[in-house]
Amino acid sequence: AAVIVAIDGPSGTGKSSTSKAVAAQLGLSYLDTGAQYRAITWWMVNNGIDIADPAAIAAAAEKPDIVSGTDPSGPTITVDGTDVAAPIRTQEVTSKVSAVSAVPEVRSRITELQRSIARGAEVGIVVEGRDIGTTVLPDADLKIFLTASPEARAARRSGELKGADVNATREALIKRDAADSGRKTSPLAKAGDAVEVDTTELTLQQVIECVVTLVEE
Ligand code: C5P
Repeated sequence: AAVIVAIDGPSGTGKSSTSKAVAAQLGLSYLDTGAQYRAITWWMVNNGIDIADPAAIAAAAEKPDIVSGTDPSGPTITVDGTDVAAPIRTQEVTSKVSAVSAVPEVRSRITELQRSIARGAEVGIVVEGRDIGTTVLPDADLKIFLTASPEARAARRSGELKGADVNATREALIKRDAADSGRKTSPLAKAGDAVEVDTTELTLQQVIECVVTLVEE
């Protein structure tokens, strides 16, 4: 039967790199749910929706057509046919995504999309996010919750953003985690039956091996 792996945790824990590598090694599909929330946020910004107005966001939540390509060696994301892989990573989208993803109508829309992609994955899929084990796929075969110290997470993020100020990155990261953890609808949370892996002292390769071993058990 198709295996479903849920990998949750805050940003800077190596979640995306780990999830992609595990999926590639095991021949599974891969879904980056953060990219979907970034894509709907990008659409809202591009269409002049006031991010401070949850009712306006809710009213537009069904409009953009978001399509995710789930090959771990080259995941893709389009909105209404436009490739948005690069523009969803800008600081503007990153600073607005928590507000957009806190709106219940956005979450129910994107959650439905995620469930249908997971159901359609014939061999199986690794799904990474914040609420996959708790809300999106509570019946996942394996749930992983990745953590790391705030210092390690900020250092990794600054490394990715090439030359970004570590302190500013840490502040932005802590603010986004607080918003994601504090929202009412399916916040960032560890499922009761998730395996917690603290990646602070581990290399990416060690985290990947750890998760692959857990899947194969
Ligand atoms: O993983 P990434 O940093 O790209 O996620 C961007 C944002 O999308 C998160 O900060 C969070 O607000 C939202 N998100 C979410 N639920 C998920 C995945 C991401 O609310 N399952």
